[in-house]
Amino acid sequence: MRIVLLGAPGSGKGTQAKLLIEKYKIPQISTGDLLRAEVAAGSELGKRAKAAMDAGSLVTDDVVLGMIQNRLAKPDAKSGFILDGFPRNIPQAQALDAMLARLGQPLQLALLVDVDKDVLMKRITGRRTCSKAECGAIYNIYFSPPKVQNKCDKCGASLSHRSDDNEATVGKRLEVYESQTSPLVAYYKAQGKLRTVKGEGPMPVIFKNMCDIIETQIRPLAAVMGRIDAVAAARERAAAKAKAKEAAAARAAAKAAKAKAAAASKPKTKLATPAKKPAKPVKAAKKPAKPAKKAVKAKPKAKPKAKKAK
Ligand SMILES: [Zn+2]
Repeated sequence: MRIVLLGAPGSGKGTQAKLLIEKYKIPQISTGDLLRAEVAAGSELGKRAKAAMDAGSLVTDDVVLGMIQNRLAKPDAKSGFILDGFPRNIPQAQALDAMLARLGQPLQLALLVDVDKDVLMKRITGRRTCSKAECGAIYNIYFSPPKVQNKCDKCGASLSHRSDDNEATVGKRLEVYESQTSPLVAYYKAQGKLRTVKGEGPMPVIFKNMCDIIETQIRPLAAVMGRIDAVAAARERAAAKAKAKEAAAARAAAKAAKAKAAAASKPKTKLATPAKKPAKPVKAAKKPAKPAKKAVKAKPKAKPKAKKAK
């Protein structure tokens, strides 16, 4: 199954993606992870990416697509993938479609995890993390508050609030997301590949809804693809049979030709044919014989009659 995941920061799509890769045994392809891996490996694409980042510019789409293509060639991506964080705009989506089409592995589903904006805001701005690094417990003052305000339930340490998780910054991030994603939503909708799951409520329920969508959207498609494959295989078998038949016929023809050639090389049969030729002059000789007979017949009849009349 080949899936693109769409969802705002705070939509929980990252958590859902982890559950999906566990259930369906397909890798999650995150362009951020790919970038770091390629740069660390010092590959050709990694060098180009690093040069762009060092120059303070964005890594170009062809570098990102090249990395994705390399990643798709690995054996664990044989039965599919979940793309997260890419594409982010229409040109990237089109380039991705073109690349996947070349690989014969088109996207099957664009799954949007949809969460209302005010809920997203509360999820992000209400986030609190235990300040003790080795604990790292996460809370939300709106949805999963600690028992004692600002104190970790597990270790009693104080909770910290990321400075960029304030309303103004989050609002801007959500706006950027909105302006990037709505054209993509329209793009995949036009392709008939967009499905939306409501990303609110208990996590297991959201996950189940996602799986239901995946199974109704992709399984029948897989079944159809299976039938198409079966038809193609049958056609291939028939073609192979016809080819074998042709080859057998060609062998038989070659054998016959060989036999004929062998027969022709025998001198006795060749002599037999010239003997037939003298028969033709005999037939031709019969034709002149007819007028000769008429002439012979006409003369004796005419002459005696004429003489008798005079
Ligand atoms: Zn703690």
